[in-house]
Amino acid sequence: MTDLKSIVDSVYHDLSDRIGEGKLADYIPELATVDPKQFGIALVTTDGKLYSAGDAETAFSIQSISKVFTLTLALGKIGDGLWKRVGREPSGNAFNSIVQLEQEKGKPRNPFINAGAIAVADVVLAGHAPKEAIGEIVQFIRQLADDDTIAIDHNVARSETNTGYRNVALANFMRSFSNLNHPAEHVLGVYFHHCAVAMSCHQLAHAGLYLASGGRNPLSGGSVVSPSRARRINALMLMCGHYDGSGDFAYRVGLPGKSGVGGGILAIAPDKASIAVWSPGLNENGNSQLGSAALELLAQRTGWSVFGQ
Ligand code: GLU
Repeated sequence: MTDLKSIVDSVYHDLSDRIGEGKLADYIPELATVDPKQFGIALVTTDGKLYSAGDAETAFSIQSISKVFTLTLALGKIGDGLWKRVGREPSGNAFNSIVQLEQEKGKPRNPFINAGAIAVADVVLAGHAPKEAIGEIVQFIRQLADDDTIAIDHNVARSETNTGYRNVALANFMRSFSNLNHPAEHVLGVYFHHCAVAMSCHQLAHAGLYLASGGRNPLSGGSVVSPSRARRINALMLMCGHYDGSGDFAYRVGLPGKSGVGGGILAIAPDKASIAVWSPGLNENGNSQLGSAALELLAQRTGWSVFGQ
């Protein structure tokens, strides 16, 4: 029987002298003000046991990890119709790249690069005012985490709204290819706000449990998505969840994962646990440097991997 408590404690302990490594996502001014010397791990098993270490209860900007939740919502709204608008292939490009989008006529490679998530936000927006769509996303995340205190960090949302020029370009570019049905500023309002949701590792690991449990929330017993949809979202996380570092993450960790430039990573060990790690310093691909190292050690020590031991 794996002793998860000592594994989580040892991973934290073995990396603690590296806390502060990496570079903050200073292209979003508000994220440049975060204290880089923070590191948290939370692991929630499918039978609801929590193992955590470090700053596991400190809320941080989940950024692109929110794209897992908006993808889940968009698939619930239009099902496989989503794949007419967004692909399912790794991009091999930076998260905010525009080059591929021109070559592929406004259809983003996958729902986790910025362009893809903006198209997904457009789907979630259908039939709503932007405020309602943002409310629906936050409510969905609260329900998954079983925690009504989860909220948007409005300073981060404002900071990105004021400086997200590349995302404005991506959105308008897609609109020119008729792959956006709403005004770019409305879609980006939804996108910037869901990226600015603040959560702790503990809350995030709890929210990801449905992906570790065949689409059901194992604690409430409620169904979030079908087992096949959960499996497919995990597949997308594995192939596309770390941008142009996705191959390396699969090689080192071997679990589906989604990172965000706030320094968080959500990883899923199917039928075992949902794991969230956070440390704000990023590597050259925009993925948490210490968070990636923590998941690599954790996967080694638990023996968890979708590829076998
Ligand atoms: N809100 C960020 C952006 O659009 C998300 C990027 C990320 O977390 O990877 O640039």
